Amino acid sequence: MNGPGTRLRTALAAADDDRLLLDLTGIEESHDALLRELPGVHVRFAMKACPAGEVLTRLAARGAGVDAASPREIAQALAAGVPPARIHYGNTVKSDRDIAHAHRLGITDFATDNAEDVAALAAHAPGARVFCRLATDGDGALWGLAGKNGCSAEDAVRVLETARAAGLTPAGLSVHVGSQQMTAGAWRTALDRLAAVLAALRRRGIALDHLNLGGGLPALGYRDRHGRDLDPPLDKIFAVLREGMRQLADESPHPLDFRIEPGRHLVADHGAIRAHVSRLATRRAPDGTPRHWLYLSCGKFNGLYEMDAVQYRLVFPTRPGSPAVPAVVAGPTCDSDDAFSPGHLVPVPADAASGDPVWILSSGAYALSYMTREFNGFAPLPYSCVGDDGATASERHPADES
Ligand SMILES: *Cc1c(COP(=O)(O)O)cnc(C)c1O
Repeated sequence: MNGPGTRLRTALAAADDDRLLLDLTGIEESHDALLRELPGVHVRFAMKACPAGEVLTRLAARGAGVDAASPREIAQALAAGVPPARIHYGNTVKSDRDIAHAHRLGITDFATDNAEDVAALAAHAPGARVFCRLATDGDGALWGLAGKNGCSAEDAVRVLETARAAGLTPAGLSVHVGSQQMTAGAWRTALDRLAAVLAALRRRGIALDHLNLGGGLPALGYRDRHGRDLDPPLDKIFAVLREGMRQLADESPHPLDFRIEPGRHLVADHGAIRAHVSRLATRRAPDGTPRHWLYLSCGKFNGLYEMDAVQYRLVFPTRPGSPAVPAVVAGPTCDSDDAFSPGHLVPVPADAASGDPVWILSSGAYALSYMTREFNGFAPLPYSCVGDDGATASERHPADES
């Protein structure tokens, strides 16, 4: 990753106010590249990573579906033109009302991981197809996501037997190895676990029709909290996935489909935020040490929610070649969490002035969704979609969706 592509760079240069820019063609290209790496896989975009209608419409036109987590997400995906058969309710946490609502919207596939949820599905979405999520430990991921979702191998067998007895169709198994998973080994372990549960179910006369490999595929352009390039081993990850899919398909006496739910991987590197410098200031800590702080117009509560776990690469387009000073980079609010890892200093132009544009790269994932309504009065960041010529379509606001 050497910086934004030409389309994004053109749009960043043309933007004269703060916004998130989404390169739809770049997102399509990463979708197509994923299909080339994992032939035959069914993509179900985890829409929470970038819930922009334009993104959903473009991906749906290329055959992708959606992993949705609530009736509102389902309704938004339907409105964007995603066929209901390609939308699944991927959240294991849902109320009776949520289930009934999704059922009315035509959704047939539901994630689960417990018997109470299965009973509710039988009552409120009769005839549904269910897939059971297996727990993973999240090791090797920046965000492990362990604990809240997924059950043990033994429980998965019981849950799907319960589903069958309740008149539902036990249809699949899923995993999520943790977001921004940096090791191929995590998928190896997950694939082994899927194989074992699949075999145990087969012995009980349950033949599933699909396995869902979940999310976790990494973005390429992040730095870690210490400012080092993350450099995920993507080729190795794809090799492990291809090999695991081949083995599982070979062992299965029935045709077996594979689904994958990329979120971050499809969108992170194809989005960039145009923000501006609020102030470059120098303050002394209580121990007397002077420290530079670069306050930006965008931070944890209006687009950079993940800024404490990853660092985004910054470009100061109007200060090329300026001498640099090390600074803590922080957002505009008065919340002390609204900062890049405060222990790590980032080189910034010594002459950065209030109002200077700043480009925040690889910020296309979890920007639109993780935005507060108006924390401290800082409005949610609008977004624009970038056309093939680098020009942007009209500004949209996150609240316009749905
Ligand atoms: C969030 C989520 C994803 C996407 O995760 P990424 O790490 O962004 O790829 C996929 N599946 C489920 C069930 C999720 O909750």
